[in-house]
Amino acid sequence: MNNCIFCKIASREIPSEVIAENEYFFAIKDISPLYKIHLLIIAKAHIATVSDIPADEMEHFSAAFDLAKKIAQKLDVVASGYRLTVNNGSDAGQEVPHFHMHFLAGEPLRKL
Ligand code: AMP
Ligand code: ZN
Repeated sequence: MNNCIFCKIASREIPSEVIAENEYFFAIKDISPLYKIHLLIIAKAHIATVSDIPADEMEHFSAAFDLAKKIAQKLDVVASGYRLTVNNGSDAGQEVPHFHMHFLAGEPLRKL
């Protein structure tokens, strides 16, 4: 989608180091990390929020968890733990309206 920062990263119009990827998602480091490990697992397609996922594409979203599982293994945080967060809309503080899941780890996280 025009002018979407994550679409531009997905299409490589804006270069970024891709940490891991699969058919539907890719992971990069968050530009303003809140924790020692702060990655974003970003949909390759432009879908704004969970509420915008078409019914016939919903099954693709398990690939986001599959990528998170592989990243947790690769970064060796399975035992220590990690948090996956998806912000949807303004009350949740979503800044970039293109589906992404925060992967937070590497130190104790503030309790929700
Ligand atoms: P959210 O508030 O859930 O929409 O999160 C958006 C996240 O994207 C924030 O944590 C930003 O720091 C991060 N972000 C914005 N632009 C970039 C970028 N170009 N590369 C990596 N992370 C970014
Ligand atoms: Zn987009």
